[in-house]
Amino acid sequence: MNAPAACLFDLDGLLLDTEPCHARAWREAARNFGLELTERQLLALRGRRRLDNVEQVCRWIEASGRNVPDGQTLMAVQQPIARRLLPEALAMPGAPQLLERCHELAVATALVTSSSRESLAIKTAGHPWLEQIDLRVLGDDPQLEAGKPAPDPFLLAAQRLGVNPGDCWAFEDSPAGALSAEAAGCRVHVLLPPGLGVEERDRLYPGDCSFLDSLHEVPLS
Ligand SMILES: [Mg+2]
Repeated sequence: MNAPAACLFDLDGLLLDTEPCHARAWREAARNFGLELTERQLLALRGRRRLDNVEQVCRWIEASGRNVPDGQTLMAVQQPIARRLLPEALAMPGAPQLLERCHELAVATALVTSSSRESLAIKTAGHPWLEQIDLRVLGDDPQLEAGKPAPDPFLLAAQRLGVNPGDCWAFEDSPAGALSAEAAGCRVHVLLPPGLGVEERDRLYPGDCSFLDSLHEVPLS
């Protein structure tokens, strides 16, 4: 049997295809203050908590020599776009089947996401298949000191499940998420964002990740 003690799942870009929505919202928000975000900058925002991203985008706006908005002003542009688009996001291919497989094999599951409780509710309303996940560690969890790329979210999930992080498989798409899971000691499976070359992949992600082109490839049996 090739099965871990638990599977720890990221949400955005891993179980749900929400990253195009986030990218559009951040791009339009930054553009509103004169900055055109690059694909690499958008990839760097993936997987992190909203407030951490607000600070990062403000730093990029400042570095470009433009007037920096305060965080709330930036959010006032970003949030309505995200809220409008996110409920439409579909499941990533193979995600419902992977959760079902965990369930069949009695492998414990956790959602380890930087999303807040409010944001999670918006994204998951149309996806009842996500309710079979055993527990959740959210970005605004009161017990969480630091978000991804710090190891804290994966460590907290393993602790709550009562398993050793080293016996867990973590599923991530973002560099920040993969670094977080690796630092926690998990075995990391990365669902690669589209259009990423091998060189860039090897530069951005920890060296001992397993890379997947699809969740259908997960070797869980
Ligand atoms: Mg993600």
